[in-house]
Amino acid sequence: MIKHRRPLSVLLAAAVAAGGTVLFAQTPSIDWQRVETESMEHFQAVLRFNTSDPPGNERPAAEYLKQVLEREGIPTKVFELEPNRLNVVARLNGNGKKRPLLLMGHTDTVNVDPAKWTYPPFSATRNGGYVYGRGTVDDKDNVAAALMTMLLLKRSGVALDRDVIFLAEAGEEGTTRVGIQFMVQQHYSEIDAEYCLAEGGSVLREGGASRYASVQTAEKIPHGIMLTATGTAGHGSVPLETNSILRLTQAVVTVSSWKPPIQLNDTTRTYFTRLAAVSPPADAARYRAVIGNDPKAAQDAVDYFAKSDPRLASSVRSSISPNIIQGGYRINVIPSEAKASLDVRLISGQDPEAFLNEVRKVVNDPAIRVEWIPRDVRPATPSARLDSDVFKILESAYARLYDTAVLPTMSTGATDMAYLRAKGMQCYGIGPAVDAEDGPKGFGAHSDQERIRESELHKFVRFHYEVVRDLARAQ
Ligand SMILES: [Zn+2]
Repeated sequence: MIKHRRPLSVLLAAAVAAGGTVLFAQTPSIDWQRVETESMEHFQAVLRFNTSDPPGNERPAAEYLKQVLEREGIPTKVFELEPNRLNVVARLNGNGKKRPLLLMGHTDTVNVDPAKWTYPPFSATRNGGYVYGRGTVDDKDNVAAALMTMLLLKRSGVALDRDVIFLAEAGEEGTTRVGIQFMVQQHYSEIDAEYCLAEGGSVLREGGASRYASVQTAEKIPHGIMLTATGTAGHGSVPLETNSILRLTQAVVTVSSWKPPIQLNDTTRTYFTRLAAVSPPADAARYRAVIGNDPKAAQDAVDYFAKSDPRLASSVRSSISPNIIQGGYRINVIPSEAKASLDVRLISGQDPEAFLNEVRKVVNDPAIRVEWIPRDVRPATPSARLDSDVFKILESAYARLYDTAVLPTMSTGATDMAYLRAKGMQCYGIGPAVDAEDGPKGFGAHSDQERIRESELHKFVRFHYEVVRDLARAQ
């Protein structure tokens, strides 16, 4: 992949013009080689705790982190809603001139099928320049980087304009009630901050070169809709046009083929603009069409994405995926009821009730009930600001350390940042560089196996530290 320098220099010029962005690394006497040894030690230690969720059991990992922070003289507390599901909070105090910065990572991981792993999933085996283990890129990389940032800031003795808070949370992978929900609902004062850095971003490498950095600044809102079709029951030997399964399947096809309007926001507009700047001409034309003034061209581009890159198609509109279908109980009986559960992801800002009514109109069948399914609905939140100090410092650090431009991204899935954004916190998802080729090989987050390049872990630790230092140190 050819690297396009123009957009990067444009971005840099904009950053310089905006002022206040530190484009040079002030070099306190940090021995980065020693930092690498120490980072690897903590990273491997945390990887070796089996925190797969369920059941989670984050306690040993949390206790390890607490002990490392306290050994350094950093005040640390733990909070638990349930035994063995510990959240760790540590704080470096600033002078209070600015509001705090929160560094967040989750210590739990998704489950594993050990039979699929070349190296045992909690062995943190180092081989060929990689570290293998569940959590290497989701999310013990962020935990390790945030931990090292706390240690390095403390040691540097640098004066801070704002508190820097460390949160290693439990339960991100499906049990948020013991993690972020518990912390937000019962201990918010411990983590209250102006800004948060957490998971959800990365630097995309293709063919060994950085293509762009993505910083998560927005996400879609999950909802669920149930379609319930009713009809007359009867003998299967006499087909009925009112068969509930027949009606339901027609409705599922109709609603799944429906194309809700394209809805862009700051994040997606900027994303497509910058993606076009680093893409080959044919792709770039489609990215520009999405944000352009020609509705037909925009629609054609989104139709193209629906086949070639469905995530992009989902990022510009509210979406519906039929994921559960239930009906019938024996071969010779026409069932009087059948149900379909639709996974709905709304673009933030879309009024849910208006969307539900649209779905009713699209289904257009009085024999089908269309209603919400109770679901753990995360709050709808606006995008994080793209003109904040954080975003500018991230842009400058990605340019300096990765020589790459930043694309703000909207997750189609939901993250724990939604709970913080709902409190007004500006949250940004970051992460280390990953090779585009690694996912399809089965080494990505939530894959059969998981791994990180050692060199990219170390680079991310340095990046993390420099970003936090530039955001927090006294001016
Ligand atoms: Zn994660």
